[in-house]
Amino acid sequence: MTDELVPATRLRCAACGAEPAASDPFPACCPNAGTDDADHLLVRELDAARVRFDAGGTQPFVRFRELLHSYSRARSGGMTDAEFVALVTGLDAAVARVDRGFVHTPFAVADAVGTALGMAAGMVWLKDETGNVAGSHKARHVFALALHLDVSERLGLTTRAESDRRGLAIASCGNAALAAATVARAANRPLHVFIPGDANPRVVEQLHALGADIAVCERQEGVAGDPCVHGFHEALAKGALPFCVQGNDNGLNIEGGMTLGWELAADLREAGIAPSRLFVQVGGGALGSAVAQALREARTLGVIASLPRLHCVQTHGAYPLRRAYLRVRDEALDRLGMAHAAAAGDGAGDAALAERLLAPDARGTVVAALAEARAHRSRYMWPWESAPHSVAHGILDDETYDWYALVDGMLETGGWPVLADEDTLLEARALAQGPGGIPADATGAAALAGLVALRRSGAVAADERAVALVTGRER
Ligand SMILES: [Zn+2]
Repeated sequence: MTDELVPATRLRCAACGAEPAASDPFPACCPNAGTDDADHLLVRELDAARVRFDAGGTQPFVRFRELLHSYSRARSGGMTDAEFVALVTGLDAAVARVDRGFVHTPFAVADAVGTALGMAAGMVWLKDETGNVAGSHKARHVFALALHLDVSERLGLTTRAESDRRGLAIASCGNAALAAATVARAANRPLHVFIPGDANPRVVEQLHALGADIAVCERQEGVAGDPCVHGFHEALAKGALPFCVQGNDNGLNIEGGMTLGWELAADLREAGIAPSRLFVQVGGGALGSAVAQALREARTLGVIASLPRLHCVQTHGAYPLRRAYLRVRDEALDRLGMAHAAAAGDGAGDAALAERLLAPDARGTVVAALAEARAHRSRYMWPWESAPHSVAHGILDDETYDWYALVDGMLETGGWPVLADEDTLLEARALAQGPGGIPADATGAAALAGLVALRRSGAVAADERAVALVTGRER
């Protein structure tokens, strides 16, 4: 049982080590962010010796509550365990009245998919998030933020009136906006949504129905970066609270996504399997970085014995994460005196270099290359130069905001970023939707498309066990 005086978690900037004040009602960003080119990001650190992985209950934010920073803040502020559980349960019930409540999402073998890919039975497993609140994992991220706000108001660090005066803000055209609007509606909190001019009309209609305040942002000639993100940042400068799913704008959202990773760890333990590869779709990067961190903690807590190779999947339309990964990889190979120019692109080349960098004698060099990247963000991550297009429009972020944790996670596990072309994305959607399948859209099936692409390239063996996250319901 957690000692209520010493919190089991804390927030610390992974780049500069700064910690937000305990009195900060919404510690979203590193206090030193923007002062230099370092990749400032508040990361929740866990004292694993002081928590239970599974604290009982089935609702994910109840079951894994001892791993949440909102729980630590609540307990060290004087709330009881029962009071925190009641807070989660009450908010979840309100979400259920708007959409549906949070449940442990399905994890199952997908032999029809495996057969189509020429793989043995029992080798392809899918974690289906399409039945989650608002149709994707995004609601997990913003539910975590709503809990933090509730805790801060309960502890008297701010008032409900002050939170409402500032309002919540998010930039998104799809699942993240719907998730934010659903949770904000449930919590009866005002939300400003910054969307592009070409947003899906059905999504816009739903946002209106959920009571969100909508601002349409058009791309301007000569201005790099997502115009919605620019509008969102202007709102933050005026005091709005970041209700977003980018870690650099609000590090607190990551632990919401981690509930998916902890569920997956529990799923793997229950199924008695240790997959060699995990495929995750990557747009802004919060999902992937949350799952990578969650699995690492689950290993520390003894829930799983090993980490699968992490494969982040992007489209040929925009792949800022793969671009950053290649820069870090080249930096490490340079330091090892190895050539790298010929290796780009094909799965076999990626696999060989990932394997080389996984060797124990290369670890120090990889860590040094990563430190260099963390200190000089703009050399590795910058907005994609052209307006990106793909059928998987939900992962076309100009920047992979949470890139660093993903590059780190891929290098640590021997995985690498995979690109899926348009035909493969459509094929993966059809495979996911097959008999008894999952109603995913092309974005939601993008991780599976990464598996398809890598299997075709020869990098995945027929008897190799792989897991793909499927998140994003077709609308
Ligand atoms: Zn910092």
